[in-house]
Amino acid sequence: MILTTHAAVGATLATLVPSNPILGFAIGFGSHFILDGIPHWDYKLKSSKRNKQKPLTNDIIIGKDFYNDLMKIGFDAIFGLTLSLLVLGTAQHQSILIITCGALGGMAPDFLQFVYFKWRHEPLTSLQKFHIWMHAKTGLNDRPLLGIFSQIAIIAIVFVLFKV
Ligand SMILES: [Zn+2]
Repeated sequence: MILTTHAAVGATLATLVPSNPILGFAIGFGSHFILDGIPHWDYKLKSSKRNKQKPLTNDIIIGKDFYNDLMKIGFDAIFGLTLSLLVLGTAQHQSILIITCGALGGMAPDFLQFVYFKWRHEPLTSLQKFHIWMHAKTGLNDRPLLGIFSQIAIIAIVFVLFKV
């Protein structure tokens, strides 16, 4: 799923333990894999090299496309954190620390995936295997409208279920 969804869900769940930012981060981290298990849509990364038969060999190539992709990823991450701070902080008066820890925890597995691409060692290899194993095997990548709408719906449902 996109980082905005991971950040918003991670941050919302972390606010359930407002006085424990480390646990909040861990809850966000765990929520990442559950969300990835739901068939979903992701935006394309031109620098990504994928091998369906051998997903452990997937990579991101640092070349001319990478900087464009980095802008997309950066915007996605900042948007997700900002949305979480607005909804949970401004509207729900949760602390900035717990929101940020939950959001960062929610996004961290995808960052660690990138670290694995560049440094293929334990414990990242096992984490990458787990990430691939948890990840939905079918996706909505050829159905972007449904894909985007379903992620907005997931964020809205989680906000409403846990915060209103
Ligand atoms: Zn992921």
